[in-house]
Amino acid sequence: MRERYDVAVIGLGAMGSAAAYHLALRGRSVVGFDRYRPPHSFGSSHGRTRIIREAYPEGAGYVPLVQRAYELWADLQTASGDELLTITGGLLIDDEGGDSSRSAIHSAARGGIAIEQLSPAEVASRFPTFRLDSGQIAIFEPRAGVLAIEACIKAHLDAAAIAGAELRFDTAVDGWTASDGGFELATSGGTVQADRLVLSAGPWLPTLLGRRAAALTVERQVQCWFEPVDDGEGPISIWPAVAAGGYTSPDLGDGVKVAVHHGGVATTPDDVERLVGDDDVDPLRRFIEHYLPGVTSTLREASVCLYTNTADKDFLIDILPEDERIIVVSPCSGHGFKFAPAVGEAVAELMTDGSTTQPIEAFRFDREALTTP
Ligand SMILES: Cc1cc2nc3c(=O)[nH]c(=O)nc-3n(C[C@H](O)[C@H](O)[C@H](O)COP(=O)(O)OP(=O)(O)OC[C@H]3O[C@@H](n4cnc5c(N)ncnc54)[C@H](O)[C@@H]3O)c2cc1C
Repeated sequence: MRERYDVAVIGLGAMGSAAAYHLALRGRSVVGFDRYRPPHSFGSSHGRTRIIREAYPEGAGYVPLVQRAYELWADLQTASGDELLTITGGLLIDDEGGDSSRSAIHSAARGGIAIEQLSPAEVASRFPTFRLDSGQIAIFEPRAGVLAIEACIKAHLDAAAIAGAELRFDTAVDGWTASDGGFELATSGGTVQADRLVLSAGPWLPTLLGRRAAALTVERQVQCWFEPVDDGEGPISIWPAVAAGGYTSPDLGDGVKVAVHHGGVATTPDDVERLVGDDDVDPLRRFIEHYLPGVTSTLREASVCLYTNTADKDFLIDILPEDERIIVVSPCSGHGFKFAPAVGEAVAELMTDGSTTQPIEAFRFDREALTTP
């Protein structure tokens, strides 16, 4: 144990584990804290799978970041020896001419990503798990797939420890004070000195951010697994224009994962209702009945997860305007996991070089959507 560290990472979930690894890789002395022992199921990073896709309808600006993430996930997979990424292909289903499909087509053109446009009949014959309405189209991208989220976090933590990071689990950081040009952190395991801080506390971030917490809202989200009709294989699917923005992941042994994107109640990690009820599951059963002939309405399992959202549903990854020694890296508005290693690399570059090669300027604190009340 050292007297003082270059960087303290507060929160070792998806983003913190990646940041700790990339900082340690660059020779920084790193101490990381987590109030639990990740991977765990109290925050935003549990539920076996996370979708990764490349022709990003949320904006072409995300494409270089996800392409870098693909490379880094592959490196981590090789280093860990575990299967982290399974390529399944992916469908984006939208109304013909709808905003999401147009934006995905634009992202694909900008990023050199191969995609195919499919009619309802083509989807029915190639991917019989799904049934589209007439007037809908599907954009198929072959490189989409799923990441094994718990294994990914474990792989980042293991790699961080091998690179020299000191990881302290079951240790909450309660706050910090300025000390000798750095910080003295008060933790449930005593005090620690560090020159710089990474705040990656996910849905707990509002408790650490003071007045800046107003930029964030935490949202309850339910993820469910249903019995497939046959083997439940096939591509992932996202349905941004229908069924409250539903999405699915194929059966990898636990059932077909079906959930909706956003639309949950505002909450906090301490107050959230963690039991899943009929009100959560019934809309998913209606979605299955209408659009997923390859899935039954028999529920195998369900769990509650948390999104940490900004007003424009983009990310927040930036140096804290009040203190250039602190980087905030978390709120990913429910679509951040796929980017985690690229975000970790960006944080490490910012802290070692003062700038990053990753395109994260759009995720600043001072953008209009976060500064306009
Ligand atoms: C249901 C659901 C589905 C999703 N699907 C996708 C998807 O398909 N694709 C995708 O890309 N993204 C998806 N996401 C989003 C993605 O999972 C999140 O953006 C990402 O996991 C957030 O990671 P994080 O590091 O910010 O938070 P977390 O992983 O929750 O980490 C925060 C950590 O901080 C710790 N902590 C908090 N406070 C303190 C403290 N004071 N001291 C010490 N430790 C502390 C916590 O214990 C926790 O481990 C989904 C999210 C959910 C909930």
